[in-house]
Amino acid sequence: MTKPTTTNTGIPVESDDESLTAGRQGPILLHDHYLIEKLAQFNRERVPERIVHAKGSGAYGELVVTGDVSKYTKAKLFQPGARTESLARFSTVAGEQGSPDTWRDPRGFAVKFYTEDGNYDLVGNNTPIFFIKDPIKFPDFIRSQKRLPGNGLRDHNMQWDFWTLRPESAHQVTWLMGDRGIPKTYRHMNGYGSHTYQWINATGERFWVKYHFKTDQGIEFLTQAEADRIAGEDADYHRKDLWEAIERGDFPSWTVYVQVMPVAEAEGYRFNPFDLTKVWSHKDYPLIEVGKWTLNRNPRNYFVDIEQAAFEPSNVVPGIGFSPDKMLLGRVFAYADAHRYRIGTNYAQLPPNQARAAEVNSYSKEGAMRYHYNDPNVPVYAPNSFDGPHADPEKAADTGIWDFDPTIVRAGYVQHAEDGDFTQAGTLVREVLDDAQRERLVDNIVGHVLGGVREPVLSRVFQYWKNVDADLGKRVEEGVRAGLDSSQG
Ligand code: NDP
Repeated sequence: MTKPTTTNTGIPVESDDESLTAGRQGPILLHDHYLIEKLAQFNRERVPERIVHAKGSGAYGELVVTGDVSKYTKAKLFQPGARTESLARFSTVAGEQGSPDTWRDPRGFAVKFYTEDGNYDLVGNNTPIFFIKDPIKFPDFIRSQKRLPGNGLRDHNMQWDFWTLRPESAHQVTWLMGDRGIPKTYRHMNGYGSHTYQWINATGERFWVKYHFKTDQGIEFLTQAEADRIAGEDADYHRKDLWEAIERGDFPSWTVYVQVMPVAEAEGYRFNPFDLTKVWSHKDYPLIEVGKWTLNRNPRNYFVDIEQAAFEPSNVVPGIGFSPDKMLLGRVFAYADAHRYRIGTNYAQLPPNQARAAEVNSYSKEGAMRYHYNDPNVPVYAPNSFDGPHADPEKAADTGIWDFDPTIVRAGYVQHAEDGDFTQAGTLVREVLDDAQRERLVDNIVGHVLGGVREPVLSRVFQYWKNVDADLGKRVEEGVRAGLDSSQG
């Protein structure tokens, strides 16, 4: 039998068709509290969208450890044979909630592991690098990729203005303009932790690590023309693909690897290993297999499980710590702060964010929307004489220690032998891409630049690409000039 509609507090309601009025043509009455509840609730249905990574999709799954990395970390989730429930959220970066999935943009690759030691979040991207290496530049970078203040339009001139004035972006922009800049689906892209993290083993030995999630579906991409067409036909193309694949039991998986660098090797490495615009060459630090990560369960409610999901690089568990990567250190603050603003101070109590395999014994209390609370007999302060939880350094997450010069400075990264804004971008163009990939790279750059880039930015764009690779720069300039001539002629 159909259940009766009720108010939010369970009281049966009279009608979903007619409001209460004074006479058939009279005014609506304020004491129609059900109408008021309905309208007021509707007005409040949205939480603020994320300032970055607003458009996303996600699913639940699990990590199964198949390798043995126990000599590098004591983290329980990475011990041989361990199985850990997981949540993933993939996203574009600059577009808003309704924007097309197939715009050229890096993709967020955020993973939450519900471990026995609390939730571990690895908040990465589908690229191993990033546009900048200091968090003080992040708001400027994102604003340059979003919309002009006056007309509210996106603007390629603004994007290239920022990129060319911040040449450390060259590696990531090369990557973005290449084939991998538009994945065919979320299933056909790799994920990278991108930052350098610290692993700590059972004897307290420390290592620097980078995470790689390699897609078992194979890397596939969309050409610019395909992506443009799909953007018009189906803005939710990637969301739909992920959902449908999981619904039909075609569970996407990734093989998880790490690169491990002994701490003593960092100073002498040819690239600064903490610079987020650089990779560690696979030749220097080969990939070590950790396990298989599979997505096998769609969310039951998109808003509850995915929109309210809160990933935060500050969630590290015993055996894992931070590094001198300044972008990572900035994000350790920024993500939790964004969640407090977006979904409230008690966001860790929302279903996707609750610890599932660990007990929460925190002294935090009250605040808006608090609905889980500790035993009323447990004191709300520490220390106490009533057997409340106590901090235990033996069990605690050690967020990482490292040696550094304690002088307070505002300065860039220490330059290592082969560092440089254009070095690894040039390697990518010359040594990794083949002729057909380079051809598409040139076409993509030319098409993007012709989308509104003008002097003085234009000349800087040509020089930027010549700095990456002389031949590539020449081809970009020729292509852009030919395009400008034909549009003027
Ligand atoms: P390798 O030749 O060992 O590795 C090159 C890697 O490049 C591949 O393993 C693949 O990484 C990635 N790759 C392949 N095609 C593309 C593409 N079209 N766009 C972007 N990446 C691609 O050399 P190195 O490790 O010494 O790195 C050389 C260059 O490769 C770097 O400067 C960097 O630009 C790029 N690269 C390196 C990665 C690393 O972690 N070392 C990761 C990704 C790119 P994957 O197996 O992760 O798909």
